[in-house]
Amino acid sequence: MLFNTDWLMRLFEDFTGMPENDVSVHSVETDSRKAAEKSLFVPLVGEKFDGHDYIKQAFDNGAIATFWKKGKPLPNFLPADFPVFFVEDTLLAMQQLAKAYRDKVDPVVIGITGSNGKTTTKDLVSAVVWQKYNTHFTNGNFNNHIGLPLTILSMDPKTEVLVLEMGMNHSGEIATLTKIAEPDYGIITNIGEAHIEYLGSREGIARAKLEILQGLKHDGIFIFNGDEPLLQMQTYAQETITCGFHEDNDIVIHDVSVEAQQTVFRLGADETYRIPLLGEHHCQNAAYAITVGKKLGLQHHEIQRAFDEMKLTGMRFEMLKGKNGSIIINDAYNASPSSMRASIEVVKQLKPYAVKVLVLGDMFELGSDAEQWHRQMADSITEPISAVLTYGHDAQYIASAMNSGQTGITCEHFASKEELLKNLQTYLRPEALILFKASRGMNFETMVNEVLEVT
Ligand code: ATP
Ligand code: MG
Repeated sequence: MLFNTDWLMRLFEDFTGMPENDVSVHSVETDSRKAAEKSLFVPLVGEKFDGHDYIKQAFDNGAIATFWKKGKPLPNFLPADFPVFFVEDTLLAMQQLAKAYRDKVDPVVIGITGSNGKTTTKDLVSAVVWQKYNTHFTNGNFNNHIGLPLTILSMDPKTEVLVLEMGMNHSGEIATLTKIAEPDYGIITNIGEAHIEYLGSREGIARAKLEILQGLKHDGIFIFNGDEPLLQMQTYAQETITCGFHEDNDIVIHDVSVEAQQTVFRLGADETYRIPLLGEHHCQNAAYAITVGKKLGLQHHEIQRAFDEMKLTGMRFEMLKGKNGSIIINDAYNASPSSMRASIEVVKQLKPYAVKVLVLGDMFELGSDAEQWHRQMADSITEPISAVLTYGHDAQYIASAMNSGQTGITCEHFASKEELLKNLQTYLRPEALILFKASRGMNFETMVNEVLEVT
């Protein structure tokens, strides 16, 4: 990114009243440790830290301008001619700058929200459009009120397509993001139960995701999961395209086959696709990418090439070599009831493993019904699952629900990861498939690392 002096200054003038100055900013940084040569430093005020306290480090690292909260004393070391843009709220100013930069570069913007599958869909959409366009996209999971503006501000001025993941915990957050991004395409991947603690109900979650329409361009296209009644029931001002397994959808997914390294499916009457991801739910994510790709002029073979070549963001259903010839699935990046069910479903479908083991942990942020959500998971755990090992305060309810039913599936709860790992040893053998799934904060990757083949 390069803000040339003229227009950057004009933007600043709009909301700071600062006169023109003679700087050219190459990047925007909120982390003083990462501030680079010619960066604009944006000191954010958080609960624990105040970025203003780190201006010295940003300056030493090469920052050539800074935002500054009005009323805060400026440190003495700054040269008298160092450009300081006084603003009421540094975060808001950065968001406004991102919006202005988005309008200036004016790429086709694709905004992606939903309870599950945002990052995967972002990866799929980016891989597809990248085949034909200069594409910029959210790095990792940089999807919130800070990450999204920083993603926009780091795009090259020649960007033709911008793919943005939009995450949220509370209502109102997607509204903020979509108004900054003003997407040409808005995608809702699905409605699950994640963050129900803050949103009250699945209806509340759907409402919060639908905020994406508040920023969607008037001639924009809304693409969503047509199998979700909460989305299907509504009428929308913008053009819509629904994707799903139901025949009534605009884009219908069928003939899904989950294989060892890929999922194959058909879309519409005559197109077959292969994706390097396992599970039906990923066909849904791929359908969004195909729909956007087609709208942007890509052909079937170009889209397929994108799927063949794509790189995925880590820890999402990664199949890895485990000790003694076992296969480990690392899905420890995050978990909610819908994503845990989806992963268990894939494990059930995968051939040709003789032993299928689930290592499950707590799913966070489910509010007062957390116990119930965990208990309900037992309904999904049926043959050919061979054994379930749980760890975590709420995961014990999965185990107790399993053990009170007559499932015939071995299920044991452990008080520590060490104990769980000790008991897992017997399953580390050829033909065994072992899934690790829990919320991020459970740090299940520490257990995954213990059972991987040592190379
Ligand atoms: P986060 O809120 O953590 O950013 P995300 O929405 O970006 O999550 P991904 O990281 O793509 O989601 O996937 C997270 C989990 O959701 C994975 O375990 C995956 O198996 C599951 N998942 C992905 N797509 C879907 C879908 N369409 N429906 C249900 N589950 C899905
Ligand atoms: Mg994500």
